Amino acid sequence: MSASAGALGSVYGRAKFPPGAAAVKPGDSNLAARLRRACEGDVLFDAFSRGRYSTDASIYQIEPIGVLLPKRAADIETAIAIAREEGVPVLPRGGGSSQCGQTVGRALVVDTSKYLRGVLSLDTENRRVRVEPGLTLDGLNKRLRGTGLFFPCDISTGSRATLGGMAGNNSCGSRSIRYGNMVHNVRAIDCVLSDGTRASFGEVPEDLGALDGPERYRDLVGTMRGIAAGIAGELASDRWPKLLRRVGGYNIDMIRPHEVYGLGRNQAGHNMAKLLVGSEGTLGFFTGLELDLSPVPPARTLGICHFPTFYQAMAAVKHIVGLDPSAVELVDRTMIELARDIAIFRPTVDRFVRGEPDAVLLVEFSGDDAGVQRRKLARLVELMGDLGFPGSVVDAIDPAFQSAIWEVRKQGLNIMMSMKGDGKPVSFIEDCAVPLEDLAEYTDRLTRIFHKYGTKGTWYAHASVGTLHVRPIINLKDPGGAATMRAIAEEAFAMVREYKGSHSGEHGDGLVRSEFHEPMFGSAIVRAFENVKDSFDPDGLFNPGKIVRPPKMDDRSLMRFPPGYRTAPIETALDWSAWGGFAGAVEMCNNNGECRKADAEVMCPSYRATGDEMHLTRGRANTLRLALSGQLGPEALLADAMHDTMDLCVGCKGCKRECPTGVDMARMKIEFRHAWNRRHGLSLGERLIAHLPRYAPYAAALAPALNLRNRVPALAALGESWFGLSRRRSLPAWRRDWFRDTEAIAANAKADTCGNGRAVALFVDTFTRYFEPENARAALAVLTRAGYDVVVPAAPEGGRSLCCGRTYLAEGLVDEARAEAARLLAALKPYVARGVKVVGLEPSCLFTLQDEFLALLPGAEAEALAANAAMFETFVAEEAESGRFAPAFAPLSIRTALVHGHCHQKAFAAMGAVATVLRLVPKLEVKVVESSCCGMAGAFGYEAAHHDVSMKMAEISLLPAVRAATPDTVLVADGTSCRHQIHDGTGRTAVHVARVLEQAVAAGGRSEGDQMETG
Ligand SMILES: Cc1cc2nc3c(=O)[nH]c(=O)nc-3n(C[C@H](O)[C@H](O)[C@H](O)COP(=O)(O)OP(=O)(O)OC[C@H]3O[C@@H](n4cnc5c(N)ncnc54)[C@H](O)[C@@H]3O)c2cc1C
Ligand code: SF4
Ligand code: SF4
Repeated sequence: MSASAGALGSVYGRAKFPPGAAAVKPGDSNLAARLRRACEGDVLFDAFSRGRYSTDASIYQIEPIGVLLPKRAADIETAIAIAREEGVPVLPRGGGSSQCGQTVGRALVVDTSKYLRGVLSLDTENRRVRVEPGLTLDGLNKRLRGTGLFFPCDISTGSRATLGGMAGNNSCGSRSIRYGNMVHNVRAIDCVLSDGTRASFGEVPEDLGALDGPERYRDLVGTMRGIAAGIAGELASDRWPKLLRRVGGYNIDMIRPHEVYGLGRNQAGHNMAKLLVGSEGTLGFFTGLELDLSPVPPARTLGICHFPTFYQAMAAVKHIVGLDPSAVELVDRTMIELARDIAIFRPTVDRFVRGEPDAVLLVEFSGDDAGVQRRKLARLVELMGDLGFPGSVVDAIDPAFQSAIWEVRKQGLNIMMSMKGDGKPVSFIEDCAVPLEDLAEYTDRLTRIFHKYGTKGTWYAHASVGTLHVRPIINLKDPGGAATMRAIAEEAFAMVREYKGSHSGEHGDGLVRSEFHEPMFGSAIVRAFENVKDSFDPDGLFNPGKIVRPPKMDDRSLMRFPPGYRTAPIETALDWSAWGGFAGAVEMCNNNGECRKADAEVMCPSYRATGDEMHLTRGRANTLRLALSGQLGPEALLADAMHDTMDLCVGCKGCKRECPTGVDMARMKIEFRHAWNRRHGLSLGERLIAHLPRYAPYAAALAPALNLRNRVPALAALGESWFGLSRRRSLPAWRRDWFRDTEAIAANAKADTCGNGRAVALFVDTFTRYFEPENARAALAVLTRAGYDVVVPAAPEGGRSLCCGRTYLAEGLVDEARAEAARLLAALKPYVARGVKVVGLEPSCLFTLQDEFLALLPGAEAEALAANAAMFETFVAEEAESGRFAPAFAPLSIRTALVHGHCHQKAFAAMGAVATVLRLVPKLEVKVVESSCCGMAGAFGYEAAHHDVSMKMAEISLLPAVRAATPDTVLVADGTSCRHQIHDGTGRTAVHVARVLEQAVAAGGRSEGDQMETG
């Protein structure tokens, strides 16, 4: 990889360790073999895995020597011992979401996030919990549900940030003004030191004679006290920022805090765990953490304060914090405008933003008593009047409204990150903290510095504690980009120093900030930091080059885009022009790690099932980027290791919607498969899947014979050995009564409604047509009964039935898919030209019209079709809303519907319509399963090689929810493969939403209580 030799020299140029570093090369097979023999867990030393661990959410890239994912804490100890003997540094890692380069280095990277995710003990009475370091913040808070307690360091990356990493960085959240930083919430840390000593770092008494623990630990405590005493004067001086948001350097202020902060001497002893917090993996390896929990505040109110100018907003913060808010967060005009541009956020923004303010402050009050929080909100309104902004506060009392507002604040950042092109918002001064009285002047001056360097930034986040996030836009591929970054950093930090502020106020030091400790803290304090490091880790085993003895922050050889970075131009099958080419789309991944989350949304199901970086959107994007830029050797793009990297991507499009920068891995997989096929060809099974639309009419004619495969195990076994289709699966059954286009004419003629004169084009996809024609018939019945003239567009006389080409896309046969798309586009063109809506039933097919068609056949025709196409339920919901769809619905015998959304419905934010139309059925209670991908994903789950992982994906949430549903619940799933998976996994039957509506419409003409099929 490109950062290799140069990186090694500069990273370790001033470090002691490791003397033999040059001898231990990345991928060292001796080290790998020793680790495999001695440790349980995953040992990843191949070039592709090393590449995936060479970046974090910073601008840097350094190839590690290898990666270990330990299964037990004991494996960490063993690995440290082996690394010490082999002369290899050790780099602890959690989610790798650090923004400053803390988790990249020429070292053995030890990632705890896969296996070490346990809660070790919970003491609700004393509000304490002990956890393993790889557990995420959200994972912990999920487990605390129902206890009335939570862990309150609410950082934005809580979905993937591990508690080990949060402690490593001394992370802080939006509500730090109320709850403090990690350092204020960590009680004790179990730590392995570089010499192998295991010690529990925690409270130590004033009298060290009474201290328990290994001798080495007791020595360290004494040494730390000595170091702190030696620089007491410096720490008490202006050199040490007296702000909550000081996370730079080591927390030596925590050894004698009464002296540093001028407090009365109210403590006996100190807490050694606080010194480890914020140490960025440089002092020891945390194997367990004891944390303080807080009660969940039952009452919250939110006031949105509007300001005509940004400056006025900044000047008001110091007054607002006097009202004891739990958060004061800034959203500036650019963010507001960006959020207004997103359809799903516009209604919320229009509700909480009045007019065109230059900035708003979101001011939250929280506590036990709702009345108190309302009174505080009233005081906020008064205060704003006193400050000269009467009538400028919008109240948000309703919790759902509050959540929607917080969501907009989060997503606004995501939109900023989605900027295409080489200039990107770069994080390097984004968490400076200044005293509140200087906030207005500081932001004003920094904006002027940006202008001086021909750039700009968008401001947001933690106004309450003087930490505003801002990322100037810089092109780091440009040779001058790093120099601009450095120049801005130097001017910004000098200004921060003037204000007695903190240059590192949230995200830590890493490679980007450590170099500035000397000018900011002064040499005496930095020498003390070095003493701390050397006392803990005399050989410099742990994470060298961070906090002390760092390289230059603008050393381009350490960056993701080093000098000479170039991507090879490749011939692509799809249109990537919006990103300036395929490489531009791949480079959109900035490693923020959102794809590691495990919440109710979709992204990334393969990672959720395996826990492997390789099966993560980020892992795939990084691997593609490294291959495209030649950093994984020649031909890497078509190597088996690349195939393995892309293999478990199920094309769910979760990332297209949920990745903050819009990395569209599903589309990239099509491109990859296309290139792969050209080199390696397709297997028999892949051909069978791809060409389904072509042979479907003949197969349907042979339905009874072909369907025997599902009843005769020997045939299933034969299918597995010939085609790779799992014998453990049933296959969709062919139907002789497949849907004929002429059925629409008959249905229209039969419709005895008075007709509303509106035409609708029903696109019947290949799966619906040949496997479940009853769904098309149901949709036809519902629409004709509601008075629509339904036409089913057909191919010109004698032509094969229309198809969107989905199966060809799934197998990377882009040219064949394009031919299908062209046929469909031509057939639908007359309807689209007349403004007739094109309605589809199968999500993966309908959304192909709105997504891949634009990349297959870019141009006005595809765009017009995309704008005119809709899922059946979206069409019905919109028509019902406007009063045009109003057939008589009657209640069904079933009173509950449980809905599972297809990934593409979720990716296109179309799930709401399913619940909306089901609610048209009187007395039907609608519940939606919080599920990711069902695991079937078209043909993916049918393949023998994917069967197990497919079932694992389904078992994460979908199948347990289905099993828990009462037998009289109707299970609704629009995806044909989702319905199949539900049946295979639980034996229960799910139906398309059109079938539920059909029953209710039919019942509307009969008496209440007609039978509906249940799951
Ligand atoms: C979009 C975005 C938003 C962010 N928002 C916030 C925010 O609101 N607040 C905030 O504070 N930060 C924020 N961050 C920064 C980052 O997410 C946090 O610092 C987070 O806590 C890091 O957790 P992690 O598991 O990814 O740790 P990693 O990045 O993997 O590691 C962090 C540090 O801890 C060390 N470490 C990890 N595990 C151990 C261990 N077991 N023993 C010893 N050391 C260990 C590592 O060596 C490293 O130095 C944000 C980052 C991004 C990309
Ligand atoms: S793929 Fe998207 S969500 Fe995942 S790390 Fe990259 S940018 Fe973040
Ligand atoms: S398409 Fe789905 S499986 Fe593939 S990377 Fe994106 S979220 Fe993951």
